[in-house]
Amino acid sequence: MIAYRCDGCGADIPRKALRYTVTIDVRAAYDKLEVGLNDLVRDHRAEIVGLIEQLKDKPAERLEETVYKGIKLDLCPSCQRAFIRSPLRFHPEQGMDDSGIDIDAFLRSLGFGKGNDAPGPAR
Ligand SMILES: [Zn+2]
Repeated sequence: MIAYRCDGCGADIPRKALRYTVTIDVRAAYDKLEVGLNDLVRDHRAEIVGLIEQLKDKPAERLEETVYKGIKLDLCPSCQRAFIRSPLRFHPEQGMDDSGIDIDAFLRSLGFGKGNDAPGPAR
């Protein structure tokens, strides 16, 4: 009876056999958002309308993936060893094409990712 299938090599992993799980959270990373009075009173309507226009025909799943993607893998022991040796080259052929969505520019326009040069309260 097959309980799992290795996401690396496709081998069957019988129930109760040693297997490994890999959980990967891929998130858009920005520095802490600091909202000032100017941000609160600024009219965001044009930015939001522009963003909606840019995104309206994009598949929802692709849009979500530009901000967050959770990945869970089951690996056999052989693939676990290969994975921990070189996680980023484990399956390099699985790279995805660019979504064409400039979510980076939008999030930065809201104040994310300003870096350490932006004035703000002491931490
Ligand atoms: Zn495997």
